[in-house]
Amino acid sequence: MTEATGIVGEFFSLKEETDAEILTMQCGDFYEFFGEDAEIVSEELDLKVSQKSSHGSSYPMAGVPIDDLTPYLKALVERGYRVAVADQYETDSGHAREIVRVVTPGTLLETSDADAQYLAAVVDGSGSAGDSSGSSTTDSGYGLAFADVTTGRFLVADATDVDDALTELYRFDPVEVLPGPDARADDELLNTVRDRTDATLTIHETEAFAPKRADHTVREQFGTETVDRLSVATPTVAAAGAILSYVEETGAGVLASMTRIQAHHGDDHVTLDATTQRNLELTETMQGKRDGSLFATIDHTETSAGGRLLKEWLQRPRRSLETLERRQESVAALSTAALARDEVQETLGKAYDLARLASKATHGSADARDLLAVQETLAVLPALADAIASNPDLADSPLSEIVDRPDRDAARELRETLEEAIADEPPSTVTQGELLQCGYDDELDEVIERHEAIKEWLDTLADREKGQYGLSHVTVDRNKTDGYYIQVGKSAADGVPDHYEEIKTLKNSKRFTTDELEEKEREILRLEERRGDLEYELFEELREQVAARAELLQDVGRALATVDALASLATHAAENRWIQPELHQGDRLTLEQGRHPVVEQTTEFVPNNVRLDEDRGFLVVTGPNMSGKSTYMRQVACIVLLAQIGSFVPAKEAEIGLVDGIFTRVGALDELAQGRSTFMVEMSELSNILHTATEESLVILDEVGRGTATYDGISIAWAATEYLHNEVKAKTLFATHYHELTGLAENLPRVANVHVAADERDGEVTFLRTVRDGPTDRSYGIHVADLAGVPDPVVDRSRDVLERLREEKAIEAKGGASSDPVQAVFDLGSGTMQTQGEPGRAQAQAASTDGGPMDPDSDAGSSAGDSDTESLDANSDTRPIDPDTEAVLEDLESIDVNTTPPIELVSKVQELQERLEE
Ligand code: ADP
Ligand code: MG
Repeated sequence: MTEATGIVGEFFSLKEETDAEILTMQCGDFYEFFGEDAEIVSEELDLKVSQKSSHGSSYPMAGVPIDDLTPYLKALVERGYRVAVADQYETDSGHAREIVRVVTPGTLLETSDADAQYLAAVVDGSGSAGDSSGSSTTDSGYGLAFADVTTGRFLVADATDVDDALTELYRFDPVEVLPGPDARADDELLNTVRDRTDATLTIHETEAFAPKRADHTVREQFGTETVDRLSVATPTVAAAGAILSYVEETGAGVLASMTRIQAHHGDDHVTLDATTQRNLELTETMQGKRDGSLFATIDHTETSAGGRLLKEWLQRPRRSLETLERRQESVAALSTAALARDEVQETLGKAYDLARLASKATHGSADARDLLAVQETLAVLPALADAIASNPDLADSPLSEIVDRPDRDAARELRETLEEAIADEPPSTVTQGELLQCGYDDELDEVIERHEAIKEWLDTLADREKGQYGLSHVTVDRNKTDGYYIQVGKSAADGVPDHYEEIKTLKNSKRFTTDELEEKEREILRLEERRGDLEYELFEELREQVAARAELLQDVGRALATVDALASLATHAAENRWIQPELHQGDRLTLEQGRHPVVEQTTEFVPNNVRLDEDRGFLVVTGPNMSGKSTYMRQVACIVLLAQIGSFVPAKEAEIGLVDGIFTRVGALDELAQGRSTFMVEMSELSNILHTATEESLVILDEVGRGTATYDGISIAWAATEYLHNEVKAKTLFATHYHELTGLAENLPRVANVHVAADERDGEVTFLRTVRDGPTDRSYGIHVADLAGVPDPVVDRSRDVLERLREEKAIEAKGGASSDPVQAVFDLGSGTMQTQGEPGRAQAQAASTDGGPMDPDSDAGSSAGDSDTESLDANSDTRPIDPDTEAVLEDLESIDVNTTPPIELVSKVQELQERLEE
């Protein structure tokens, strides 16, 4: 491939060994990049490129000093590159080089980001999973494993199908994903991962996913019993095994920090699919910003570990009443005990990220400052326990148990060991001494004593020489070329004693040395080296001792993070007048004066009540555009979610029946404006909800069906409502501008209408933001046209047209089980139900759901009422209209207010007005 020899040749042959995109190779005091790699690096990171010639050709070359490699590695990996690092080592015949690590997004240890950094593996067990050993997998479904090398966290989860797998992937938001053999061919899965996460996809060797080998790897790491107790499916074990093998292969050296494997079982967690997490803006807004998300709003944590935990809680709400009530108790205690809370938070403020430090210790990259941070953080635990114990409310709460959970004695011992060992202000280098304290090691003490004595001799030499020889302007110093020297100012230089030996003449001074000084110099160099070596050796032992306690550090870290997250919830509750919701296992959901947790931060929020129970499980929410429907429904979802992480909620009173899942879907039209959804996506997500939601779920549908033409949309909304009401029986809020749907309440017993009130006076609409029982009484599209000043004849005429369109259609509502006979007919024209006898009108074509993806601008399909312009004048009881006006009218009529985006509507109306004025 290449003719290059020497260093460049070595580089290229190492490059062939690795599948990393970039290689960097140690050459003495530098890490070098050659060829294309040098070009990439220079482009990405502004490194200077020079040319290196080899065998008559010349190659681009770029390099960084050894000690500066980390930030460059980090920057490259964060840009999505996998970087192989080859180190140089001494051999009998000179030196050789070898790849020691491949740094990838999921195995990067040097992160400065507080967020979790998950490496994920996903295995598709539904096909003939790739077991090269011949035995076939028995489990179907998907298997997932997640590891955070920076904290040692390791989680696994079974997933029933691809959607489930994607939900977990979205939840953990991994930085790198290893698809298993079958998953690699699954374009849908891979594309969705690419779309929904920023993860790098990495192909790891197929054998690592083989069930037998993976099972062996997992048992070796976590112990046979642990794995049996987990009882997860084969694909999940395969995923876990693949991750372990990958971490090992990339040489991150952190396997030892992965002390525990945890199974994430769906049954204790609230189902929260990816769309819902996005719609509710849990961790980022629709615009992808952190600010304005629910997490950013409620996060008052003091530590990054606490922040990570709180985020995890939000992404994985719980269903266990017991767990939630325990969290509530702590939050309640902390929220009332303001002073004690301050103290708790101040104490937590001194904590560092123990889980991360444990990983660094295991990896061998922790320096003395890191161990000092471990020591200081271990000291936070007893201080925190004291703060909790000294307040009766806190002492009585589960907080006491949380801080007692880690092995406090072991933590104290480790802290004491570190206290005796680590110097007060150690340097960041670990090879040059001054890391450890006197009294830690006898041999070291002796070296230090001699070293300090000789430093003292050198420090006082200048004064001695001045006194003894009457010299002025004397200093003693050292530099690389001259070593130690005595420097004497020009004026005094002639008076130096004979045994001074001149080594250099400078402009204003001369430098001398003496035999004695040279001898002391040799000695100090010897001592420095000895001290550096000895301290490094002792330090390494100490670091290994810390690494061996990784699990303890993780426990303490977890306890601190838990208190931090709870204190954060308490702070937010206290500062925003949130209250403790009453939780129960029933169907009732009542909120007195509920608010939206995020919107209330920036708006004078009008509180609203919500009431859902066994007899009233489905609310149809109507109201004009911009009146507050979406906000109302999201507020309900957010409050339920907050309640299910143990948080207080923004309301005056709240009673919340726990749910097993929260599902939301926003109509494609509302999402289209942000260019992220199509009608097809809207429908497949609706389908997912109809399939997976249960009687215990909370379903939020916001303008679903709006992504297609009016009658098509109504039909789908209508049928979905019936199905949710009759079959799924989920607690549902459905916001719709299809006024027609309000008729369902008359026939489906658990459906109730609520509307967001608006006040209209002198043509001015005031949004009251108040939700009231009952349907809205008008169709707002024409109302908006009226408000916009469209002339009366046009408005009146459009009411006629609408009426006419409606009169031609009637839909029956199916109550009870879906197989029940027709029970009632809803007349779109009159807005009433006919429960007996023949409806006597054209029936139900509109209920066809053959929609599919449709152009939202096109009119309804064959089933919907075409705007038949042919009969515009027939039956007309309005004044005669001139042709120009009629043309305007025709245009007006052809606008579908339901599918045209509001902005376009406004400009259309403006245009029509202008034409009328002409
Ligand atoms: P809709 O879904 O009915 O079109 P939105 O829910 O999007 O309306 O709300 C429109 C605007 O009104 C938003 O800017 C929102 O912040 C504000 N809003 C909604 N509900 C309230 C409320 N209860 N109090 C104050 N402002 C509100
Ligand atoms: Mg809305």
